[in-house]
Amino acid sequence: MGVFRSVYPYTQETIAEYPEMDDASIDLKLITAGEAFSNWRNFSFALRSEVLLSVASILRSEKDKFARLITMEMGKVLPEALAEVEKSAWVCEYYASHARNFLADEVIEAGFTRSIMVHQPVGAVFAIMPWNFPFWQVFRFAAPTLMAGNVALLKHAPTVFGCALAIEDIFRQAGAPAGVFQSLVIAAERSEKIIAADIVQGVTLTGSERAGVAVASLAGKHLKKSLLELGGSDALIVLPDADMKKAARVALQSRLLNAGQSCIASKRLIVIKDAMNDFLPHLLEGIQDFRQGNPFEPGIRVGPMARPDLAEQIQQQIRNAIARGAQLEYGGSVDGCNLQPSLLLGVEPGMAAFDEETFGPLVAVITARTEAAAIKLANNSRYGLAGSIWTKNTDKGMALARQLNTGAVFINSLVKSDPRLPFGGVKKSGYGRELGKPGIKEFVNMKTIVVD
Ligand code: NDP
Repeated sequence: MGVFRSVYPYTQETIAEYPEMDDASIDLKLITAGEAFSNWRNFSFALRSEVLLSVASILRSEKDKFARLITMEMGKVLPEALAEVEKSAWVCEYYASHARNFLADEVIEAGFTRSIMVHQPVGAVFAIMPWNFPFWQVFRFAAPTLMAGNVALLKHAPTVFGCALAIEDIFRQAGAPAGVFQSLVIAAERSEKIIAADIVQGVTLTGSERAGVAVASLAGKHLKKSLLELGGSDALIVLPDADMKKAARVALQSRLLNAGQSCIASKRLIVIKDAMNDFLPHLLEGIQDFRQGNPFEPGIRVGPMARPDLAEQIQQQIRNAIARGAQLEYGGSVDGCNLQPSLLLGVEPGMAAFDEETFGPLVAVITARTEAAAIKLANNSRYGLAGSIWTKNTDKGMALARQLNTGAVFINSLVKSDPRLPFGGVKKSGYGRELGKPGIKEFVNMKTIVVD
C-alpha cells in the first residue's frame, strides 16, 4: 500500500501524509454504504434537508479553516478558497430546498386510469474528483445525490486527501448517518473494485479526457451509468461593438482565476480583427494587475499551480506556440509551481495553445477576420464545454450562441457554474449534466407506475 503526500505547492513542503486504505477497509466501506443506503433512502426530504442545511452551516461557520486547508493542499489564493467554501454551502442549501419539488411524481396522460413517473434513489454514487476545486467539485455532486436518497463514495485526487477527509468529517458532524458520505483513500488503479460493487449504481468523474476514457470504459464494462465532466477549451469571442474594457477585465478574470486551472476558463480569446486595436490595450494593461506569488498574501491574485508537472506542461505549450510563430507578449517565467501569468498573441490552429486544453495562467489571443470565422474557430476544438460572446447587440449574441457547439454560452458575462443552472459539455468535454434540475435526475430511477 502506498502513502499519499499533501504538498504545499508554493514552497513544495510536505504538510501531511495519508496511508492508502487496504482491501479489507474498502470492503468494509462498501458494506457500510449498503447499510446506509437501506436507511437513508427511506428518510423524508425534510430529514435529508436538515442534514444538508447543517452541512452548509458548518461550512459557513468554519470557512476560514477549510479555506486554509484548500490553499495549503492545492495553492489557490485564500479569497478564492473562501469563496469556494461559501459556494459549496450554497449548493447544499439549494438542493435542500428544491429537491422535493424537482423529484415530485409526474402524471403522464396515456389513456390509463392512472400513469405516473416516480423518482427513486439507485444506490451509491462513486465520485472521482480532481484537485482544482477540491470542495466545490465534491459538493456539486454530493448535494443532489444525497438529497435524491443515494449515498456517496468519493475518491479524491491524491494531493487533496486532507480535503476529502475534512468533507467526510463535516457530514459526520452534521448528523448524516454513518456511511452516507465516505471518502476512500486509494490510488486510481483501485477504482474498478468500487465500480464493480453491486451497491454502486453510478459513477461521476470530473477530470481529464484521459481519465474520462478510462473511467467510462470501466463503467461500461460493469454496466454502471456514468457522468463525465472533462476538460474544456472555451472560446471568448469579442465583437467590434463590445464593451472592450469589461470584456478584457472579465476575460482575464475568467482565464486567471484559480491560476488558470479551471475547466470553464476562457482559454481562447477570439477577437474580430476590427476589435483588436480597442481590445488589446485593455488586456495588456489588465494582466499586469495579476500579481503572482504567496497565496496567503493579501493582494496576490494568482497563486502557484497545483503541481510542478502542470506548470511544466503550460511551459511546453508556450514553447510550442512560439516555435510555430506566436508572440509571447507578457510573462512566461517559472519557478517550480509558480508560473507568471503569460500572454500569447497570434495563436492559431496547429499550435498546442489552440489545439490542447491549457490548464494554467496562459492567455491565448486569436484573431478572426469575420464573425463567421470566429464561430468556426471557436468550434474548431475537440472540446465543447462552454463559451462567451461579447457584443452590445444581444439579439446577435443570442443567434451566435446557438451556433456554438458547447454545453453553455454566456453573453457579456463570466462563464461560471451556478447551482441553479445545468452544467456540462458536449464532444470530448464529456456527457451528462450537473446542477439545476437535470443534475439531480442523473442518478435516479425514473420508474413508471400504471393503473389500468
Ligand atoms: P486527472 O484527470 O488525471 O485527475 C482527475 C481525477 O481522476 C483524480 O482523482 C485522478 O486520480 C482520477 N483518475 C485519473 N485516471 C484515472 C483512472 N484511470 N481511474 C480512476 N481514476 C482516475 O487530472 P490530472 O491531475 O492528471 O490533470 C491533468 C490534466 O487534466 C490537466 O492539465 C487538465 O487539462 C485536466 N483536468 C481537468 C479538470 C477539469 O476540471 N475538467 C480537473 C483536473 C484536471 P489520480 O490522480 O490518482 O490518477
